[in-house]
Amino acid sequence: MKFSNSYAKLDEVFYERIRPTPVRDPQLFLWNSSLTEQLMIPDELNNDPVALAQVFSGNHILPGSEPIATAYAGHQFGSFVRQLGDGRAHLIGELLDQSGKGWDIQLKGSGRTSFSRGGDGRCSIGPAVREFIMSEALKALGVATTRSLAVVTTGEPVFRETPLPGAVVTRVASSHIRIGTFQYFAARGDLKSLITLCHYAIKRHYPELQTEGQNQYLSFLNKVIEKQIQLVVDWMRIGFIHGVMNTDNTSISGETIDYGPCAMMGIYDPQTVYSSIDTMGRYAFGNQPAIIQWNIARFGECLLPLINSDNNKALDRLRSIISEFPGMFEKEYMKMMGKKLGLKFFKQDDQKLILAVLNRLREKHLDYTVTFDLLTKSLLSETVASQMKNELEEYFELWQKRLSEQDADLHEVQVLMRQYNPVVIPRNHHVEEVIQECQQSGKSTLAEKFLQVLSSPYEELAQTHDYQDPPEDGDKDYKTFCGT
Ligand code: AMP
Ligand code: MG
Repeated sequence: MKFSNSYAKLDEVFYERIRPTPVRDPQLFLWNSSLTEQLMIPDELNNDPVALAQVFSGNHILPGSEPIATAYAGHQFGSFVRQLGDGRAHLIGELLDQSGKGWDIQLKGSGRTSFSRGGDGRCSIGPAVREFIMSEALKALGVATTRSLAVVTTGEPVFRETPLPGAVVTRVASSHIRIGTFQYFAARGDLKSLITLCHYAIKRHYPELQTEGQNQYLSFLNKVIEKQIQLVVDWMRIGFIHGVMNTDNTSISGETIDYGPCAMMGIYDPQTVYSSIDTMGRYAFGNQPAIIQWNIARFGECLLPLINSDNNKALDRLRSIISEFPGMFEKEYMKMMGKKLGLKFFKQDDQKLILAVLNRLREKHLDYTVTFDLLTKSLLSETVASQMKNELEEYFELWQKRLSEQDADLHEVQVLMRQYNPVVIPRNHHVEEVIQECQQSGKSTLAEKFLQVLSSPYEELAQTHDYQDPPEDGDKDYKTFCGT
């Protein structure tokens, strides 16, 4: 294992050097062996749960690791907070993979730092398991995301409303640089650090831009826009609601980050919100495109002095880029929805069909995943076709007519649709059931079984059926919580 610690080599203003606070009795709870090869974790460590628990609780600092807590700011629900930072997380370094690419290894729940404010720096087992399950599920669904390497229980209670078992979750990310990291320096007028951060982020994520000189900042902005559009389009494809799209939770790499109050939409409704603190529905399913545009505008504002030394010129440039965002998003979104419906090529006119089908789902309170799964199956099954015709009525026929106009046989269309429509997603009631079981029994058996099914979300395995059922009550009273 080789650490590069490139972020820790930046100036001290970027972080606090601080070690995790040791825990009483670390026990390995979940381990993601599918990542060990990529991260070149040696067999002797990989096969030693006691040693893994020591390392991924923060009790044992590996040779070459230089733990830090990173500084960032952020807009939370639209209000700017000058200083947030890793209040309960430690970046223990970047591990180099076989190709020499660095992966941030971050412990979350590993103790207090100077960014903790009133918090205890800890995490309970529920949110740790939730992050593990949801991030690995999104990865398998083909969505860009941070990953989870381990959950280690600490043998110490954390006090929320009641005492809960404590845990540390290890996150693997292509970096932890957020829009909020740029905001931290922009808000302080620290241009030097802002430039350092830009160069660091460009080198790490978009090295092809390095030769562009003064233009690289605009190109950087455009790259982040492209990545974030792809990300949010993918969320919309699978029905993912991030739940807390604050600018500190928006990664420059375009990975899904921070699985606090996230949830999956069941019944199709763009207004779906589950987060208990999102009373205004700011981060509702259907608002995600508008919010990512808003977040990117905040990112663009940080770059203004680098885009042009004349602030008015820089602003004009930024405004014109941001004004193109909705059209760019719409185009990618429609292409994706077209693919969900088996359209090889999207034609402008298809928009009507797509919106009509979605509207039908909403009016009839149909489950998003089930409906698209059945539409996929309906291509080669008379029984399912007649069931779907009953549900969608004239729109089913319009869809079939449109499919018959393209040059593709039904097998081919089914293969295409299956790539865009999962058979199983991490449904909220199953996630909760698994978390409850982990919390109460202290055993990971159910979580492992669930993870196994979620690792092949486009295939029906023997146990997939156990997890496909939509919630009986349509998740009408379901609530998720932040940062617990
Ligand atoms: P999040 O809601 O996870 O995006 O966190 C927002 C901010 O609150 C970040 O600065 C976190 O580090 C901090 N935070 C959340 N929970 C805790 C905690 N238990 N102890 C210390 N800081 C926390
Ligand atoms: Mg966060």
